[in-house]
Amino acid sequence: MMQVPLSVGSLLEHAEKFFPKKEVISQTHDVLHRLNYGEIGQRTRRLMSIMNELGIRKGDRIGTLAWNHHRHLEIYFAAPGMGSVLHTINIRLSPEDIIYIINHAKDKILFIDEDILPLIEHIHTHLKTVEAFVVMTDKAELPDSTIQPLYSYEELLSTGDPTYEFANDIDENQPAGMCYTSATTGKPKGVVYSHRAIVLHSFALGLADTAGLSESDVSMPVVPQFHVNAWGTPFACTWFGSTQVMPGPRFTPKRLAEFIERFKVTITAGVPTIWLGLLRELEQGNYDTSSLRAVLCGGSAAPLGLIKAFEEKHNIPFYHAYGATETTPLVTISRLKSYQQDLTLEEKFQERSRQGILVPGLQMKVVGDSGEVEWNGKEMGELLLKGPWIADEYYKDARSDDAFKDGWFHTGDVVTVDEEGTIKIVDRTKDLIKSGGEWISSVEIENAIMAHNAVFEASVVAIADEKWQERPVACVVLHEGQENAVKKDDIIEFLKPQFPKWWLPDDVLFFEEIPKSSVGKFLKRELREQVKARYSPQG
Ligand code: AMP
Repeated sequence: MMQVPLSVGSLLEHAEKFFPKKEVISQTHDVLHRLNYGEIGQRTRRLMSIMNELGIRKGDRIGTLAWNHHRHLEIYFAAPGMGSVLHTINIRLSPEDIIYIINHAKDKILFIDEDILPLIEHIHTHLKTVEAFVVMTDKAELPDSTIQPLYSYEELLSTGDPTYEFANDIDENQPAGMCYTSATTGKPKGVVYSHRAIVLHSFALGLADTAGLSESDVSMPVVPQFHVNAWGTPFACTWFGSTQVMPGPRFTPKRLAEFIERFKVTITAGVPTIWLGLLRELEQGNYDTSSLRAVLCGGSAAPLGLIKAFEEKHNIPFYHAYGATETTPLVTISRLKSYQQDLTLEEKFQERSRQGILVPGLQMKVVGDSGEVEWNGKEMGELLLKGPWIADEYYKDARSDDAFKDGWFHTGDVVTVDEEGTIKIVDRTKDLIKSGGEWISSVEIENAIMAHNAVFEASVVAIADEKWQERPVACVVLHEGQENAVKKDDIIEFLKPQFPKWWLPDDVLFFEEIPKSSVGKFLKRELREQVKARYSPQG
């Protein structure tokens, strides 16, 4: 067979040729834009020519600090399209982490959204390698700024060459993108995606038994483009000619609901926090969501109650998926097999609340204290992964040695596997609670609490205990108006029939909010500190 290198630029070239009329609908700060792939293609070519003039060469890192919109999408293709590297930076990280990441990646140019400019003004003197800053604004005038040199994206594009060619000498193993992920301790860790990984992962997103992305889809990625490339959907959707709806800066659940109705969104993707917010909005407003064929939920465990609410109350198919920055990210998705259609409704929900089976193309192994675990749904072990879109190191980082050993990525996620091969994430290795030498899954208890009608969200952490070493404590946020309706004992009574006695939390603390990470996950490290402070207010 021919040896044809897989390249990210070729995905957009395909859309330009075969889907030039299909649209990208994009909300920016001030304007709702509608551009077709013909226009996106030409603008991307202009951008490549301009970056070339600005001195960007093969292998250079192109940083972005931006929300989900069409300009960000153009950089998704322009950077790898000219052989340089798309580096999406999480705008919700601390300024110190952002400085570290930009310097560590040695970004040469930064593309910034207008509302991120103040952050960059605050830190730009610490940025050692950046030679140019570009603001992605709709306004004719550039904002006043202390940063130099500062360019306007649209002004640059207006002088670019719309016929500029995508690089034709791409090695499929060369870097196309990179993304840093927060670590439990220490600085964020960088993951580099090759052209090959992104293209093969895009194929995987198109399979009927995964996300089944296709030309007829209207895809709205709510997961940020700075979080594992919006789970790779912009690459796949462009390639397949799907319509894309980019919800833009500082979107609200209301905007999401309106966009679903107005643009007849068929598929959308995000973390559970987003879907909890949307659910509230759907319950308050009267929206037509009948176009939705799939809501993809991942990034943290989707509570059973959330899945049921979407499916039973709103008739919206809801799919639980699992992955990580190191895995591009799709690893598993939860769908019933044909012969599981005979299960009872409750059994089906139980099955689909697990993280699902491995997508074709990857390999997995689950390793416990004494080797690989039995597929019996009970034995716990760490999930190890291998495959063409799984990273094999962190970028210039000594922590690679621990996470990537013997040819496998050690995920740090503790799982069980049932007879069907369905995995269930029980916990992060670091968040499991060890009580009297036995493991308690914090995730299982928190999901059970979140099924209580009065509960908005819940997280369970360990506190030190003299007798048992560690014991679980539940931290609960109640729905508005329910603040006085539920007490500690009600939660414990609710859990009693579902768990062995020794799993029941020793205490239930009520919070106004659970601290969350920059990508919307429970920040257990911070929560443990808050719990400790409650027990010893004097410090
Ligand atoms: P990130 O690199 O920020 O995407 O985080 C990846 C981690 O998120 C994984 O290693 C898991 O611990 C967690 N995660 C992702 N998807 C799920 C899921 N569906 N259920 C439970 N945990 C998840």
